[in-house]
Amino acid sequence: MKIIFKQPSAKVTEVFLSIQGEGVYAGEDHVFVRFHGCNLRCAFCDTPQPEAPEESSIRAVVDKIFDADKGKKAKSVTITGGEPLLHTQFLKVLLPALRERGYKIHLDTNGTLPDKAKEVIGLVDIIAMDIKLPSSTRNRHFWEEHLEFLRAVRAKEVFIKMVITDETHDADIEKAIELIESVDKNIPLILQPASAFGDFKGVPDNAKLLDWQKRAREKLKDVRIIPQLHKIKGIR
Ligand code: SF4
Repeated sequence: MKIIFKQPSAKVTEVFLSIQGEGVYAGEDHVFVRFHGCNLRCAFCDTPQPEAPEESSIRAVVDKIFDADKGKKAKSVTITGGEPLLHTQFLKVLLPALRERGYKIHLDTNGTLPDKAKEVIGLVDIIAMDIKLPSSTRNRHFWEEHLEFLRAVRAKEVFIKMVITDETHDADIEKAIELIESVDKNIPLILQPASAFGDFKGVPDNAKLLDWQKRAREKLKDVRIIPQLHKIKGIR
């Protein structure tokens, strides 16, 4: 009797080629794979929330990636969401197939699911991890989860993004700097000013941003202010 193993499937919202708009790799050509669903609700969230899409097979997603990258411009695939770590069973099959084709894997994550990160960390090359400041998200804090997450992924290349709004508190910034420094002061920190869109108008003040960058640089080696490039240029 032939045993047939069922391949995992996942709700994938979209697959497309664009420039990376955030973080230390901003400006590179990436293929983006956006997974549906998130465990958080951030006040500044700009992720489109369409109706839940149909489940996609691994084969269908791989075909869409190759199709999006027909010109073979992209050297990297960014796995994003929503929160992609809600789909680890799918990632465990998808990511090795993409690495076999020579793609670097960037994982874009909210940094709140350390146990899930541990399941796939060996399959990822670069991690863009958020620290969710409660005064920015209007959510509860995730300090313990973020600390465990950062310790778990530290062996890989990792950088941190923090979205800054006009409601961000000094105390949250201080706490986040302390957290990063306690793991490794060489981890790059990106202060990402929130962009206005729809009803959200909470763009932070430039003088405050520069002051926080200055203060962060007293403890951390690499602190940059990088707005969302794709938002500024109106690129998808
Ligand atoms: S973690 Fe990201 S996708 Fe999830 S609600 Fe926050 S901004 Fe949106």
